Amino acid sequence: MTRGAIAEAVRFALPPRCPGCGAIVEADHRFCLACWQGLDFLAGPACARCGAPFEVSRGAGALCGGCIERPGACDAVRAAVGYGETARRVALKLKHGGRPGTAETIARAMARLIGAEDAGALIAPVPLHARRLWWRGHNQSALIARALARRHGLALVPDLAARTKATPLLRGLGRKARARAVRGAFAVPARHRPLVKDRRVLLIDDVFTTGATADACAATLKRAGAAEVRLLCWARVLRDSDGE
Ligand SMILES: [Zn+2]
Ligand SMILES: [Zn+2]
Repeated sequence: MTRGAIAEAVRFALPPRCPGCGAIVEADHRFCLACWQGLDFLAGPACARCGAPFEVSRGAGALCGGCIERPGACDAVRAAVGYGETARRVALKLKHGGRPGTAETIARAMARLIGAEDAGALIAPVPLHARRLWWRGHNQSALIARALARRHGLALVPDLAARTKATPLLRGLGRKARARAVRGAFAVPARHRPLVKDRRVLLIDDVFTTGATADACAATLKRAGAAEVRLLCWARVLRDSDGE
């Protein structure tokens, strides 16, 4: 059999499936119509810094109240979609299944978050603590970062920010308690310090909830000399009650 015939046979045996619900679809990484319509692609007016959606446009560069009051360490937060049923299913599939195919689907949806100005940036995942990594076997954010690095030709540094302590689940904690829980949780290994100096870093996470973890991570990268840290995520929780 030729390579093409083998590929054809595999396609017949393992038809492409919707990354959301598993229904058979036309091509890999395509969502079925119902799942596609259930995805909330975030493209409307939003805070220039944290990306929180605005009801109506406030003009280019406008910031939300929170960012004016106390800007976080991330210079920008961007997500491909709002955290809804389909986005959640895809995120859970990656988290528990750890399949590179799911990471590729997510990377495709996130492609528009990376622009020409990001050429030369480092790309790094928000890390999991070693114990959680060992338990699960993979870091879902690292899988997305790897797929994005490949697609956009960026330098992937999987351990640019390393977790130095395990943090409790942040669900239910107030803003100050969350910030306290993740303080000192990250460090840039000495060998990466020359690398991060004056560079733009694209920090990758799967789901953006309160931002406390990513913010502590970004602050650590900034202290190590990063010029700019942009947080790019698959999905963003739009209401306080969802996620994490
Ligand atoms: Zn579907
Ligand atoms: Zn904001």
